[in-house]
Amino acid sequence: MLLFQAPPPTRFDLNFNLFGFPIRVHPFFWVIAFLFGASSNNLINILLWVFAIFISILIHELGHAFAMRYYGQSSRIVLHGAGGVTIPESIAWGSSYANVALSPNQQMLIAFAGPGAGFLFAIFILLVVALTGGVVDLNAAYLFGILPFPYAHYPNGSNIVNSLIMTFLWVNIFWGLVNLLPVYPLDGGHITRYAIMQSDPWNGLRKSLWVSVFVGAGMALAGLIFLESMYTALLFGLLAFQSYQILQSRQL
Ligand SMILES: [Zn+2]
Repeated sequence: MLLFQAPPPTRFDLNFNLFGFPIRVHPFFWVIAFLFGASSNNLINILLWVFAIFISILIHELGHAFAMRYYGQSSRIVLHGAGGVTIPESIAWGSSYANVALSPNQQMLIAFAGPGAGFLFAIFILLVVALTGGVVDLNAAYLFGILPFPYAHYPNGSNIVNSLIMTFLWVNIFWGLVNLLPVYPLDGGHITRYAIMQSDPWNGLRKSLWVSVFVGAGMALAGLIFLESMYTALLFGLLAFQSYQILQSRQL
């Protein structure tokens, strides 16, 4: 996700550098990751969730960060309670500071690079399992009865390793797909914005916000009726409402 505001630094932040990118982890990141895993009733599974979410969101944000670097834009990464954000940083430009001007196509690629990095990681996991004697079934399960969902495991492997594989596949594939929905501030919202703006520079932003309102509301209803997931309904209801508010406030 690109647009959520990063929370201010706290003294409980974890700070480190990876591949030359400064990375900050806000304490709420751990709290929310823990709550995601808390539906499972044993501590090891909860910790597996926290680990898998941490690695997966880091890979997602590194996808954005490497794509920005490819276009000459430096960035830093913040993981927080609502996921993560890759923030472009001003670079020295002669005697002043400036951001690199990115074309709509480059912006679309940067937005796609997050979910794209997750999909590549899922393929990597499937390959490793297949090459080390595990079982990989690409059509083992179906998401919502529509999308085939790969399943991989070691028949004689430990439960911990098998749970970790399934969690990695689930987070990187399923969350990646959700992230590509044309709803702000998901990556798909940004992709839609720059795609529409290519043909309609004046009204592109406004149109992409309306797409966000309708798809967000549709997902909220689908979440409630078909998935019976209050979490999905609330999340997408909130995102649709947020887009509607931006439309109203900006007088676009
Ligand atoms: Zn993203």
